This record gives sequence, structure tokens and C-alpha cells, in this order.
Amino acid sequence: MDKNFQEEFTQIIKFEPPLYKQRHQFVKDLVEKYKPKKVADLGCADCSLLWMLKFCSCIEVLAGLDISASVMKEKMHMLSPLPVDYLQPSERSLTVTLHHGSVAHKDPCMLGFDLVTCIELIEHLEESELKKFPEVVFGFMAPSIVVISTPNSEFNSLLPRVMLYRHPDHKFEWSQAQFQSWALETARCYDYSVEFTGVGHPPAGMEKVGFCTQIAVFVRKYPQTSESVQSEKPMEAVYKTVFKAVYPSLKDEKYLQNAVINEVIFTAQIIKHCLMSKREEYGDDSERKSKFQPSMDCFSDYLGKPVVEKNMEPFISGNEVYVPLKTIFSFPKVNRLCGTFEKLCKLIAGKVTLSSDGSAVMFNIEQENEEN
Ligand code: SAH
Repeated sequence: MDKNFQEEFTQIIKFEPPLYKQRHQFVKDLVEKYKPKKVADLGCADCSLLWMLKFCSCIEVLAGLDISASVMKEKMHMLSPLPVDYLQPSERSLTVTLHHGSVAHKDPCMLGFDLVTCIELIEHLEESELKKFPEVVFGFMAPSIVVISTPNSEFNSLLPRVMLYRHPDHKFEWSQAQFQSWALETARCYDYSVEFTGVGHPPAGMEKVGFCTQIAVFVRKYPQTSESVQSEKPMEAVYKTVFKAVYPSLKDEKYLQNAVINEVIFTAQIIKHCLMSKREEYGDDSERKSKFQPSMDCFSDYLGKPVVEKNMEPFISGNEVYVPLKTIFSFPKVNRLCGTFEKLCKLIAGKVTLSSDGSAVMFNIEQENEEN
């Protein structure tokens, strides 16, 4: 490499977005492509990648592992649910767990993952740990996809202030040939295919240097059932769980029930409101009032178009407004939440005031006026 050319670049190489963000974005893109449900991040450090991944709607289980409990604990509160998660529980379930332990040891809590990420981890491993790492990740955990990133030592000459390694805790940094030969041998041993890529492009004219961060994406060649995962492996736990958050989800009956009750009352209130304002238009003409037929169109602005045809009309009788449950069920949000009419009836039983035959939500106008 031309020395002057090299020196010129050492002054100006600065990645935008920063390289760690590009690595995390690479993982996010991979998640969007493969849609894994269970993701484990090994060497998760301050949990910043896990935090980014918790917003990926396909993920239901997220786990982090690090040998340093203190670095994990620094920002782990970011992984806790927020008030809005309780106010509007998501349809998916999500559990986030952090474990303290080493990638050189097997623990059953690491079984059953679809994607395992090891971002800038392997260069921190002692020789003895690096030797055990493939058996733990590819042999024991055996997820369908593994992504490993590590510095490309060939790029170091272009980086300012790098003497031996990029970080004082690095035990080694590999050239492209060294990383690829290790990855190919690992893939061969454990029946995975592997492809190489990276983030942090070299400057124009210096493409031979390769990416600043080299990345290997391994894909398991053989299928694996969840039964075989659990049955054949030793079950002694060695990691310590330091954090666990179970996000509120509509898959949990208690949150579903709350959401359905709220939505049923909201829907019934909108319908009642439309009904009452229409009735006002008819003034005191009781003959016309009795013929009064509200149009479903007037509710649809607020509630969406009914997804079930043939709903029943709401009506006013004396001081009572009746909004049939069948009508409420016909609107998209209630319909999607409950799935079946029977489920709707079951979830609101005893929680919402109904007509004596249980077929309609009932409001007493006089009582409401008094309360107001
Ligand atoms: N993955 C992070 C950065 C990792 S830095 C990111 O994407 O930003 C490397 C991390 O690996 C450190 O937090 C270090 O504590 C952890 N580590 C080192 N040796 C380990 C081991 N044997 N098992 C698990 N984690 C280890």
C-alpha cells in the first residue's frame, strides 16, 4: 500500500453512521429478512442491540448473555416495559432475559433460539474460550442462523491511532483470510453454510483491504424440531439470570379481557352518541321518532366499516339505550380482538351492564344525566 495514500486516509476515515450502528442495523435487517421468533445476543455488553431488537415485531423471546454483569446492568432498565406498553398491550408476547455467564459454557436457557448474534465478541475471547465457542454455539445451541462480526485487521492501517489492536481487551484481530478459514472450518464441522460480508466500506481504490468490520452469516443446513432440541441436551444450569421482563400482551387473557371491555364500552358509547344526536333531529315528533332508523354509516367514521354483515340495529326504549352485542362485534377492532362472538360474551360477562337477555349493552340515559 502506498504510504502517502495510506496516511492521507488515516486522517479522514470516519464512518457515518458510526460503525457500531451499522453493525446493529445489519442485524436488524437480518431479523427483518428471516423473521426469527427467538433471538440471543452473546456478549451483549450494554444491551444496546437488544434494545433495538425489542421493537422488531416478529421477536417473542430476546436473551442477552455477557461475562460482565456490571456492564449489562448499566442500561438494562431500558429493556423494561414502558407505561404505554401496559396502556396498549401489544398483540405479540415478548420476554426479555439477561444472563450472566460465558459463551464457553453450555446452559439449557440458551436452547431453542432461531438467531444467535455475536457482534464484536470473539476477539475478546481467550484462546481456551475460543476453542470451546463453536461447540457451544453451533453444536449445543444450534440455532438456524448465527451471525458473527469481528474487526478486519487489514483495515487497521487505515484507522488513526490503532497501534496493535482496536481495543485493549482484544486478544487477537484477524485478517480476512484468517477469519474466513476459521468460519469455513466451523461451518463444515457443524453442518452450516456460511457467507461473508461486512460493514464500513474501504475508501475507493482500496477495496482489497475489505470491510472495516467483517461479518459471517451462518445458516444451519439441517432441520431441527423443538423436541429434539430439548431432549438430547444436558440440563444443568450454569448461567445466572440477572434480569427478566415479561411484556404485557393480548395473548395473556387478563390484558385481552381489559382491552375487550374498553373497546366494547367505547364502541357502545359511540353508537349511543350517534343514536342520541340523530334522535335530537326528530325533535318531539314521537310518531317519526318511533320510525327512526339509525344508519350504520354514521358510526363507521369512528369505528371502521363493519366486518360482519347482518348486524342488529341499536335502539332506544324509554330511558334505556340498547346496543346489541352482535352490532358491537361487527366492528373491526372488537372483531379482531375477540375472534368469535362467544369469546366476546365470555370476556365481558359480569363486567359490562347488559340487557336482561344478555344480548345488548344497556345504558340508562336518565342515570347518566344525573351523574353528569
Ligand atoms: N456486542 C456488543 C459489544 C461487545 S464487546 C455490541 O454490539 O456493541 C464484547 C463483550 O463480550 C463485552 O461486553 C464482554 O464483557 C463480553 N465477553 C467477553 N468474554 C465473554 C465470554 N467469555 N462470554 C460472554 N461474554 C463475553
